[in-house]
Amino acid sequence: MSASPYIPHTQIPETSEVTCSTCAACCCQLEVMLITDTGVPERFIDNDEWGGEVMRRLDDGWCAALDRDTMRCTIYAVRPLICREFEMGAPECLEERRGIADIYR
Ligand code: SF4
Ligand code: SF4
Repeated sequence: MSASPYIPHTQIPETSEVTCSTCAACCCQLEVMLITDTGVPERFIDNDEWGGEVMRRLDDGWCAALDRDTMRCTIYAVRPLICREFEMGAPECLEERRGIADIYR
């Protein structure tokens, strides 16, 4: 069999290195329930239809606590537990990055 000049499609990584610095804060569009009190300022807290506390989101879906110039969390030190546990590079993270891949291509 002759060597192919092409790299098989399956060997091309989907994206460059997965880090939050090469991401458009994709996971900050998810609904974030506040299940513990970490000190999130009131102005960023909303109630869902069942009365539970969630992070407030803007009309375009991103969390109200996200800095839209830097795409970084403005309340990082007091961010909700769910945000702390969302693991960079985990299947959920990759799924979110795929969802709005056009933004950082
Ligand atoms: S955890 Fe994943 S989806 Fe969230 S900002 Fe970091 S790289 Fe993007
Ligand atoms: S609190 Fe911070 S880390 Fe959590 S969704 Fe909002 S901007 Fe992202």
